[in-house]
Amino acid sequence: MHPSRPNKTVLIPIAACILVAMSTLTATGGPPPVLYRVVLPAPDRAARTALAGQGVAIDAIGADTVTTIVDPAGLAALRKQGLEPLSVTPLDFPPADSAYHNYAEMQALLQQTALAYADIMRLTTVGSSLEGRPIPAVKISDEPDVDDPNEPAVLFFALTHGREHLTVEMALEIIRLFTQGYGNDPALTNLVNTREIWVLPNVNPDGGEYDIAAGVYQYWRKNRRVNYDGTFGVDPNRNYGYRWGCCGGSSAVPSSETYRGPSAFSEPETQVVRDFVLAHPDIAVAISFHTYGELILYPYGYTYTDVPEDMNRDDYAVFVALAANLALTNGYTPQQSSDLYITSGDAGDWLYGARRIFAFTFEMYPVESNPGFYPPADVIERETRRNHAAVKYLATMADQPRRVIGLAGDVTPPTVSMTVTANLPLFVGQPITATAIVTDDVGVTLVAWQVNGQTAALQTAGPYSFTLIPIAPGAQRLQALAFDAAGNSWAAPPITATAYAAAEASLWAQGYPDRVSRDAPLNLTFSRPITGDSVEIAFEPPMPYLFSSKDAGKGQIAHARFAPAATYTLTLASGWGPDAQLLPAQWVFTTEWARAYLPAIVKQPGQ
Ligand SMILES: [Zn+2]
Repeated sequence: MHPSRPNKTVLIPIAACILVAMSTLTATGGPPPVLYRVVLPAPDRAARTALAGQGVAIDAIGADTVTTIVDPAGLAALRKQGLEPLSVTPLDFPPADSAYHNYAEMQALLQQTALAYADIMRLTTVGSSLEGRPIPAVKISDEPDVDDPNEPAVLFFALTHGREHLTVEMALEIIRLFTQGYGNDPALTNLVNTREIWVLPNVNPDGGEYDIAAGVYQYWRKNRRVNYDGTFGVDPNRNYGYRWGCCGGSSAVPSSETYRGPSAFSEPETQVVRDFVLAHPDIAVAISFHTYGELILYPYGYTYTDVPEDMNRDDYAVFVALAANLALTNGYTPQQSSDLYITSGDAGDWLYGARRIFAFTFEMYPVESNPGFYPPADVIERETRRNHAAVKYLATMADQPRRVIGLAGDVTPPTVSMTVTANLPLFVGQPITATAIVTDDVGVTLVAWQVNGQTAALQTAGPYSFTLIPIAPGAQRLQALAFDAAGNSWAAPPITATAYAAAEASLWAQGYPDRVSRDAPLNLTFSRPITGDSVEIAFEPPMPYLFSSKDAGKGQIAHARFAPAATYTLTLASGWGPDAQLLPAQWVFTTEWARAYLPAIVKQPGQ
């Protein structure tokens, strides 16, 4: 349905842009409109004609210049033709909306703010979009470098949908509110001191940039995945992995605006949010900002049922009460998400369903389709400040959201016990499996497996089990850290196992007789019990004499294998002549798993 992408210097005339904009309403994709406004020198009519003759599509004529709009290939083609532009400017928000922050402007503002408020704000990158744009995360707290599990966390995130630009402004306003308020406003200062405030201001930068990069809005909602049928985009808010694809709440058709993608969490943008949330289990409350409708939505979206089996009845009452209080602050309409229509795979359902986070979706200004997704820039300040009180209220409730319905809140952490199975001693490359039994009166929501203090794996549902395969020798300190729905956490006492290098799996021959002969059995004692593998014994130089091992029950020649045991008695069986007693011999032991030469023991001739 779309013109194929121009690969030569070509102007996309304004009329065509409008066609693109209209047809993307059905989300059939289209040429990625990474476009540039290029100004070329053209002092007179003859020069303009010459340019046109070279294939330059002239968009506007200046006193001694012309302007053309090209994609990157077109820009390269211009330069190949020897046409050096006077200026090259990426297209952006229309001039009237220049107060909105495009991706680069947002990143610049975040970096500037992080520098100005380095004592309370950290800016990090938590992943990348499909097209490789870094996805930033902002943390505001009194000790921004400390992940304090005792400080409840609140998450605000924005621009799940590309065209909902007002939400980026909302996120930036939240950052401004807390940074500028710290030390000036007692309530804000207290929140910064007692909470971890997380802001992900743009979780779909590809969609957002696509929407504005042609200089004309594209009405672009989804990300920029190239689908198998050539259409573009997966709807991030149908791609989350809770009841993904169920119940008619999303589309399996790639061209659809609500295409859910080929699998749950198939998209890097939703993976980033998922992994961020899993890595911060103290997040208790969240708002996902969208436009438009002036609504406050709470889970579930996948069912009309208010309290299905996978929702705690108290939690539902908490959602209703929090939403009502939030609505009092901004005049939005609170309702269950499915009161609009059934949705599946949205962020709110996953945040609550998988993590028991009290997660709200705010549909911001306006109510009506005019101005719809593109309100004029002069409403930014009014409509973002409109949510100051809601943001502060939810951050305040982050410690014990349940107190909104009079519940004291769950302060009892889960109980955790851990067992480990492994073949001990543990060698590099061999598995050690830990299993945790976790119980909680409210509900276990996350178990974090930590190895040597670093989180190695996260599980949102039982059975909770983790297999570690050491890749380096040394102590392996394993611990299971469990969180409940209220963010209380408890850790099982750690279990430490030492992983030995394969070369350490050595056996030592001890108690040698002075001579090896038929009359003097050779006793070998393993320095550590060898389990789960066999040991090979050889002689250098090769001495193909027969030994028998009484313990292993095997009669062997020089190349012998022994089943695991602590001690073997080797007895010369035959072929060892009297002169051999005087032959210097080196005994070399290798392990099956490493084939490494172990510390050699040289048997000196008897004296
Ligand atoms: Zn949206």
